[in-house]
Amino acid sequence: MSDVLILGAGMAGLGAALALQARGRDCVILDRTGPGQETSHGNAGILQSEASEPYALPRSPISLLRMALGEGNALSFDPLALPAQAGALLRYWMASHPARYARAAALYHQLISTALGAHAPLIAAAGADNLIQRDGYWEAYRSERALDAAETTARRMARTYGHPYTIFGSESLQRAEPAVTGKLAGAVLWSGPWRASDPGGLVQAYARLFEQRGGSIVTGDATTLAPHGAGWKAGGVEAEQVVIALGPWSPALLRRFGYRVPMVAKRGYHMHFKGAARLNRALVDAERSIVLSPMRQGLRIATGAELSRKAAPHPRQMRRGEKAARELMDFGPPLEKAAWSGTRPCLPGMLPLIRQAPRHRGMWLHFGHGHQGFTLGPVTGERLARAMTGDISAIDGLDQGLH
Ligand SMILES: Cc1cc2nc3c(=O)[nH]c(=O)nc-3n(C[C@H](O)[C@H](O)[C@H](O)COP(=O)(O)OP(=O)(O)OC[C@H]3O[C@@H](n4cnc5c(N)ncnc54)[C@H](O)[C@@H]3O)c2cc1C
Repeated sequence: MSDVLILGAGMAGLGAALALQARGRDCVILDRTGPGQETSHGNAGILQSEASEPYALPRSPISLLRMALGEGNALSFDPLALPAQAGALLRYWMASHPARYARAAALYHQLISTALGAHAPLIAAAGADNLIQRDGYWEAYRSERALDAAETTARRMARTYGHPYTIFGSESLQRAEPAVTGKLAGAVLWSGPWRASDPGGLVQAYARLFEQRGGSIVTGDATTLAPHGAGWKAGGVEAEQVVIALGPWSPALLRRFGYRVPMVAKRGYHMHFKGAARLNRALVDAERSIVLSPMRQGLRIATGAELSRKAAPHPRQMRRGEKAARELMDFGPPLEKAAWSGTRPCLPGMLPLIRQAPRHRGMWLHFGHGHQGFTLGPVTGERLARAMTGDISAIDGLDQGLH
């Protein structure tokens, strides 16, 4: 029997497994596919050390309406999907109240500000340096007005959290990124963040490190999870304790054990495109809510959030995102026939859920990393491992949102 069975081999699962292993725990990871094949593969690849403030819902009815009408392509939704998410969205809106939001952001900042420090030794030990660029990303704007507002925000973020940034005007941005031929007013260069040129590849490198250090990864179905003696069993693996790190699939499993976790499932899409013109850094087209990320596979265009019941075969956000990106630079045809889609596991309180399940001994939860789980997996994994090995204060404030 192993000490800990970790369900899910995304960035959250690997982050937890490596941190537990470092504390002497004998761990097995179970996944139905393989490491880094799902959300932790399909993201924009930015290790977002500047994202100290999580995404809140706008509080004013006008801003909410604009968002709902698809302004800026940030959000698209299927009205039929709303009833299923109404409770979670209401909680999200309530948690976005300035006083509650400030408390969540303070804790979020603590996590984000230590995230690169948690990745660094893993990247080095996994020999994954070739996948990492350490020169930040562009938050680009089309209009002068939006750029001015972004500069004000950047100044506040620098003053409050110390995040380094530089403002580039249209011409200096063009010199730095000659592949961008479309008209931009300029950009905020956030120079602190890092970027992975193959996000799934980074998770797979962490998985190899976990195995080299004595861990094992097995293929199996987490929905077979059941109590077994004094411990747990799933997919034929027995362990004293279990960690649920199934990202967007976690609430469905927990429901079977009588727990209700409202989740705002924000779907995102991406496609890769062929093309000679290359960006030097990832570029967020902030007014069109797309990220253009140079990846090993080609230019990856990733979209904003879609609230829908199932992935659209011809997603509107992806079509609009591709069109917007083509206004900025020249690139070739898509490399895939259909867009990839995945779901950001967003909890209404905007913080990941890390705690022991209140009514099940030895069951721990580690999911709900929302928009920044690729960044946060190792640092919250560290917090979880500290809590599981006796320092329960490590997860103070991260235990909300379970009913
Ligand atoms: C378009 C997009 C862009 C993003 N950009 C960024 C970014 O730039 N930076 C950033 O930090 N974050 C980003 N994110 C968010 C980030 O990708 C997620 O928060 C993170 O990947 C979640 O990791 P996870 O390990 O919790 O989930 P996952 O990576 O989805 O892992 C869950 C695992 O559970 C497994 N699983 C599910 N069900 C079962 C089952 N029944 N049995 C066995 N295994 C099962 C799956 O196979 C999967 O491997 C983005 C997300 C999207 C969608």
